Amino acid sequence: MLSIKPLSLSPSVPSNSRVLMLLGQLERLNREAMLADAEIGRQITAKILHLIQTQEKTRKEIMSKGSSGMEVILATLEVTGYLYICGSCVNDRCVCVPGGGRRVGVFVSKGGTGILLQLVLSGSKESPPSEELMLQLHSLLAKVGPKDRKFGVKARLNGALNVTVNLLKQNLQNHKLLLPCLQVLRVYSSNSVNAVSLGKNGVLELMFKIIGPYSKKNTSLLKVSLDTLGALLKSKTNARRAVDRAHVPVLLYIYQDWHRNDTRHRHMLIRKGVLGCLKNITNIKLGRKAFIDADGMRILYNTSTECLPVRTLDPLINTSSLIMRKCFPKNRLPLPTIKSVFHHQLPHVPAGGPVAQLYNQPLGVDDVVDESDDNDDVETENDTENEEEDKDHHARNDDIETDINKLRPKETHSRPFEELKIYERFFLELSEDFQRFIFDNPKSASPLAPAPTPAPVHTLDTINITKDHDEQELVQGMERMALEGTGPQGGAGAEEWVPDTALLLPLHDPDLYVEMVKSTRSVPQYSEVAYPDYFGHVAPTFREHILERVYGVQRTKIFQDIERLIHPNDILDKVVYDLDIQSCPVIDDGESLKFNSQFESGNLRKAIQARKFEYDLVLNSDINSNHYHQWFYFEVSGMRVGAPYRFNIINCEKSNSQFNYGMQVLMYSVQEAISGRPRWVRTGTDICYYKNHFSRSSIAAGGQKGKSYYTMTFSMTFNHKDDVCYFAYHYPYTYSTLKMHLQKLEALRTPQIYMRQDILCETLGGNSCPLLTITAMPESTSNDQICQFRNRPLVFLSSRVHPGETNASWVMKGTLEFLMGSSPLAHSLREAYIFKIVPMLNPDGVVNGNHRCSLSGEDLNRQWQSPSPELHPTIYHTKSLLQYLAAIQRAPLVFCDYHGHSRKKNVFMYGCSLKETVWQTNISATSCELHEDLGYRTLPKILSQTAPAFSMASCSFVVERSKEATARVVVWREIGVQRSYTMESTLCGCDQGKYKGLQIGTRELEEMGAQFCVALLRLKRLTSPLELRNHAHLLDVESDLIETRCKVSSPSTYVLEDEEHSFMEEVDYSAESGDEPDNDPDAADPHDNRLSDSESNNHRDSLT
Ligand SMILES: [Zn+2]
Repeated sequence: MLSIKPLSLSPSVPSNSRVLMLLGQLERLNREAMLADAEIGRQITAKILHLIQTQEKTRKEIMSKGSSGMEVILATLEVTGYLYICGSCVNDRCVCVPGGGRRVGVFVSKGGTGILLQLVLSGSKESPPSEELMLQLHSLLAKVGPKDRKFGVKARLNGALNVTVNLLKQNLQNHKLLLPCLQVLRVYSSNSVNAVSLGKNGVLELMFKIIGPYSKKNTSLLKVSLDTLGALLKSKTNARRAVDRAHVPVLLYIYQDWHRNDTRHRHMLIRKGVLGCLKNITNIKLGRKAFIDADGMRILYNTSTECLPVRTLDPLINTSSLIMRKCFPKNRLPLPTIKSVFHHQLPHVPAGGPVAQLYNQPLGVDDVVDESDDNDDVETENDTENEEEDKDHHARNDDIETDINKLRPKETHSRPFEELKIYERFFLELSEDFQRFIFDNPKSASPLAPAPTPAPVHTLDTINITKDHDEQELVQGMERMALEGTGPQGGAGAEEWVPDTALLLPLHDPDLYVEMVKSTRSVPQYSEVAYPDYFGHVAPTFREHILERVYGVQRTKIFQDIERLIHPNDILDKVVYDLDIQSCPVIDDGESLKFNSQFESGNLRKAIQARKFEYDLVLNSDINSNHYHQWFYFEVSGMRVGAPYRFNIINCEKSNSQFNYGMQVLMYSVQEAISGRPRWVRTGTDICYYKNHFSRSSIAAGGQKGKSYYTMTFSMTFNHKDDVCYFAYHYPYTYSTLKMHLQKLEALRTPQIYMRQDILCETLGGNSCPLLTITAMPESTSNDQICQFRNRPLVFLSSRVHPGETNASWVMKGTLEFLMGSSPLAHSLREAYIFKIVPMLNPDGVVNGNHRCSLSGEDLNRQWQSPSPELHPTIYHTKSLLQYLAAIQRAPLVFCDYHGHSRKKNVFMYGCSLKETVWQTNISATSCELHEDLGYRTLPKILSQTAPAFSMASCSFVVERSKEATARVVVWREIGVQRSYTMESTLCGCDQGKYKGLQIGTRELEEMGAQFCVALLRLKRLTSPLELRNHAHLLDVESDLIETRCKVSSPSTYVLEDEEHSFMEEVDYSAESGDEPDNDPDAADPHDNRLSDSESNNHRDSLT
């Protein structure tokens, strides 16, 4: 009950106001409620009502802040409501309330809903209840209810739910009363507990008495009933009830009937309402089954197809498509096992984790689908008990490290220096005295000076035996791929049509490439060479724009998929390539494309011709793993010119992709290459990426059941007859390419350049992991010079820990070429630093076409905390190098690991900041005591000013829990490198700067690598106290830092959300099949959506 305060006047209200006088009278009556005369009350309220209805001024007075007019009216309503239930005055009084949204808000905030509900209850006790009163009360509640977040709960606790339901049951023919009651019921039903209780009370059946086939009468009743029904069916209990009572075919019948008769589309909302009911029923497995049994797929497919020409019917098509996708029976991925088709025996199997699981999986267990997939529809009677409130609080930011001890430098003395001392040999420059060198001129070392270390050709060659027979196979492979009618065949044939790229690609050499391939060890023992890697890639000079998405593409593709179910006879289902079969059939009947990917970095496992020009492609898992597919690289031949080919990669795993935001696939045409255009070009139309109907085993989905794979689809017409074309996820860069490139770089060495190539270690697969040292030779052997030489700060760079992120290698290529360049900047840079570079941290992964892992089946960028020397040798030894440096007090000034990012645009960095991490959490108490140098922001800030592709806005310096074992975080915490970064380059393109609207190419990536070097030079000037004075103008960087620092404190800048915005077309990549749509684990997964691709731990469950 309201306590009635003395009437207070708003200052703006003139005291002689008539309405105030009347309100005053009312208030007195309320106080003496028991004695009051109903007739007087009625008269007064009638007068107030009249004033309110006729004078805007009066309305304002009553509603104005500080006025208690509304309270008085409510109090009157309450008091008299008890006393004169049947009084017609209620009617009048009530009408005081409605009005604009704000007035309803005031009414609610003053407790009006409760009073109305009370009146409903007390009114219901009369027999028979006053129809007029109930009509008025429900009309009011229909307006007030949606504004009151607690409405559903209040109505239930108060008992009004049943009153309304009984009223409905007794007045089914009384449309005047029915409408407001239904409107109130719709609001009740949005509360999940109410929905269950109403369902038990027979409200579903009640709704079906109102909802019927096409009729022009009472459409508003119909609309509200459908909405109410839709709300009720969100409860799984109700959905099951609807299935049990065979309501699914009824709904389908009603939908078709409206579809047929509503020819002028006047009642789209009713049709959408019916679909809404079906959509909710099909959230449960039983519902999906009932839908299929009732021929729902065909019905919705046909009606949707008929709706297609009318754009305004899109909401119907989209909802239908959503329902069909959910109900589409789950298919089995067409594989015998999801384990990689190739196997590499590990020296020892880790004790736990996904690899151990893989090794311990009993023989004969089907890992492609889950047996239990079909009965996991566990439902409880009460659905969700927690009501409106305590939902959306948790989702965000739960990955931020909050343990302050994990953010402080780690005090480790775990490795005695004796153990690290063996790494001294990788740092000869730190003790080099150059006594053997003759400096006959202060500017250059004598050409007689021996190279500081053995030539890399030699070191790399010693790894491997000469593969005589392989070489032969190689030649044969080349011949096999040789193009018909393009020059003579035979041993020397190749040379005839190798494009001469020496001028355009001075650092590429096809012959040298083939030499390098011979010593590269792959698990499948590849003997073929892919043409693009052999010929090389000359970046095109034309611009490649980010594709604008064509309206309706996704829908069209999905409908084509649904057609497979509806017209199964149209499907060829012809396997044309299959690595799981020993002989891997290559069908050559002229009717099908020929596929191949048995070359370095290739990873196509199977190709199935679905329709004449449509192919389903399955990618191979990473070796010793049963998932991680996204990267692809394969060859196609036997195409028909001008035919509209569609390719579907059907076992992608990520929940979204830049393929939905304008990224195209890369294609390399051999015909183009031999015509003088050897290059990868962005290609493909009708590209989209969406959740498909191939079920994904929980074994490969981090234990989650009921998940699906994703399809990446693109269409393509070929321009050349007898062409051989290659498709790739991104510009390939193989391990053999790296080896070739390093040799060519060696040739760039001048007497001023100190360059050394060491072999850091051997990988599990028997490939060597190169380590480069680049700096400037000292100008002379004088003590000063030698001292300057040895004491240059170190910069430590690495890249390509993730094999699928080939862009990282292209950035590294840019860095290396800049460092070996002859520009004055390059020279200054070499004089400023000693560069230690591991250009490929995961050679085995690259060679074998993995997307993310090494041969150990693990993500190497999750092993930095305690890498195993046997299982993760490249990480173990790289970390040891850094530990050695820390031990001799020479920890690098900058550490940066290059990566690629599949979901964001631009190039950006992740760094580590204790303060910024703490700012994002609630442990503010400690934050004021933390002191931190802002230096970690300088390098990215410089890059944002100098590198066109770089975007400061995308950078983040927060330490996440899921990243604690990444290079960036471990080097920061354990080695104590303040400027420890991950640099992420987009796979797609840029949405800012000079390259805005363009897809990224190798030229831009290489430029990024070069700009990184330039930025290091500026950093040098800023960090050297002596130089600082001479470069005062650069101090603006520091002031910029302060500015950005202020921005950072806002929690929303922690990491950008998936920065992509929605399109005109409502794109729905992930129609859920198992769960409620708002329960989509992908959508809720912060790692999937907002974190760095390279570092994000998509399968963290499986890693625990
Ligand atoms: Zn990565």
